[in-house]
Order: sequence, then structure tokens, then C-alpha cells
Amino acid sequence: MALEAQQKRQFQQRLMQWYRHHGRDLPWRRTTDPYAILVSEVMLQQTQVERVLDFYQRFLGRFPTLAALASAPVDEVLAAWQGLGYYRRARNLHLAAQQIMERHHGVFPETFDDVAALPGVGRYTAGAVLCFAFGKRTPILDTNVQRVLERMFVRRPAVKPSAMHKRLWRLAEDVLPPGTDAWVLNQAMMDLGATVCTARTPRCTQCCLYAICHAAAALTTQLGLFPYAEPAETEMSMVAEADGPVYGGGTPPPDFSRRGEL
Ligand code: SF4
Repeated sequence: MALEAQQKRQFQQRLMQWYRHHGRDLPWRRTTDPYAILVSEVMLQQTQVERVLDFYQRFLGRFPTLAALASAPVDEVLAAWQGLGYYRRARNLHLAAQQIMERHHGVFPETFDDVAALPGVGRYTAGAVLCFAFGKRTPILDTNVQRVLERMFVRRPAVKPSAMHKRLWRLAEDVLPPGTDAWVLNQAMMDLGATVCTARTPRCTQCCLYAICHAAAALTTQLGLFPYAEPAETEMSMVAEADGPVYGGGTPPPDFSRRGEL
């Protein structure tokens, strides 16, 4: 299912503008260190953002670099993970750090195949690290992104879950704009899915995609929501952003030309 250019452009513009004002400001979005981003992504695999916030800072305080983690005894790593649960994630993270030290001479790999080959790293995590740390245009598909894309674009779901999953990965790639905007759109889709387009009670009437979303009308009726009114803020933000994007909600994208300094 190829998207029409106009439909794609509207989706990108609305969502990126929403993110600037209503996205989340998170510490792992303020770095381009692939190690720190991998730590956050592994923690987020089974744990809510609010809980990860505290553990992320403490873990990086204890193991600030890939080398520090790789050389630590596994018992210390597991002790630092205490309270997060699913300890297999900590073991895999430790092994991944050791693998990078041994096979990549301590330099974090930058290709999809190399990152995806690390223990505990699947397609989503590899895409997230490449996009968020290296500024690459790689798709990500977690449950939040999946829900937004499915409701927004899919008219006839595939019967087989595996076929549907493939379609959604294609969509996740198709919607991405070039350059740093891919970073913004990926973060925006995750945030919209986590805060507005939630699984049980999507807030369609407050959603920036309402006017162009395939599922919006049916969900609004089903949930008994009031009809949608485009917020006046949209016009105001456009004026304010005439000189370039202004970020007052979501973390601004990093300057990837300064990678290594951040
Ligand atoms: S309009 Fe509703 S269903 Fe569509 S993306 Fe927004 S919250 Fe989700």
C-alpha cells in the first residue's frame, strides 16, 4: 500500500508540529551517544517511561561508558538493574558491551546488521539506535507506533498477523521524511501513541491527526466523543515558526553534525 504524497506530507507536518509543542522531553533524547541510547531502549523494552527515568540516570552514573559496562562483573550489573526486573535484559546488555569491545574494538557499530546482531537487540531496537544516535532514516515499530499507523492508514487489515506486521514495517519506513526530520517523526509517533492515540481510550477529539485519520470518525462515535474542532494554536504556532521550528514540548533533535561532542 503506497501512500499518496499529499497524505504523507500532511501526516508528517501535523505530527512534527504537534511534537514540538506537546511531545515529551526525555533525557535519552538529549544525547547522540549510542551506548546511552541502547541502555534506554533496552530498559524501555518492558518498563514504563516514568520508571525508566530514574534507573537510566543511575545506571549511567555507575557504568558511564561501554568500556565500563563491559569490564564490570556481571553480578554488579545485575545489582544495578535491581528493581527493573526482566534480568535477561541486563545480561544481554552486558554481553552486547563486551561484544562491541571485542568485535568492533570498542567502537559502536553503525550498520543495521551489526547492531541487530548484538545480544538482546531486535529490529526495533536496532532501528531506534541507528536513528536516534546516528541520525539515520531507519523505521521503528513499537506498539505505540504500530497503533498510530494502523489507525491512521490501514483500511483493510491483512488477515494474517505476520502479513499485517510486514505491511506496518513498510508503512513505518514509507512515512519517514529525510534527514533529521526522521528523528523527529519517529519520536512524535511514539509520543502520540503513548499519550493521545492510546489503546483503549484514544483522545481523537484532541488529536492533531483527526482531520486526516482513517479511524477517527468511527472511534469518535464509538467512544461518544464530541466532534472535533481544530485548535487555534495550530495557526499561532505556524506564525511563531516562520523563522524555524520552535520546541516547547518535545526534546529538540540533536545536531548530528556535532556527534561525539554531545
Ligand atoms: S485521530 Fe484518533 S485514532 Fe487517529 S491517530 Fe488520532 S487518536 Fe489515533
